[in-house]
Amino acid sequence: MAHFSSKSKEILSTCDTRLQDICNTLIEWFDFSVISGHRGEEEQNKIFADGYSQVKYPDSKHNAEPSLAVDLTPYPVDWEDREAFTYLAGWFMGVARMKGINVRWGGDWNGTDGNRGGDSLKDNSFDDLGHFELMD
Ligand SMILES: [Zn+2]
Repeated sequence: MAHFSSKSKEILSTCDTRLQDICNTLIEWFDFSVISGHRGEEEQNKIFADGYSQVKYPDSKHNAEPSLAVDLTPYPVDWEDREAFTYLAGWFMGVARMKGINVRWGGDWNGTDGNRGGDSLKDNSFDDLGHFELMD
């Protein structure tokens, strides 16, 4: 059974308890790292400037306290392995649904086509494949 590093645990602790709940269940079945939870103004504006976020502080769900968004990577991380991120997202969305928590994935912002497959995930204009956020 996989388990979180102390760094992943520390980052996860900055997130809403519903996101913590999903991640703590998921780590029992799928090995992944938590790389971003709450982000302050300086960090948010830096990643915006670097092109990794579409919004400046305070418009990201990462800017809330506790954070309403979490960024994950499959472990070990390979940023080029789109399939691994997509597979993790499927697990995450399944666990969230099982728990009755409404979340959105950064690989499917319009959130309507997760069950259709095929080209339905290819209409995403800005891929943020490790990003998950609460919708309620
Ligand atoms: Zn994110």
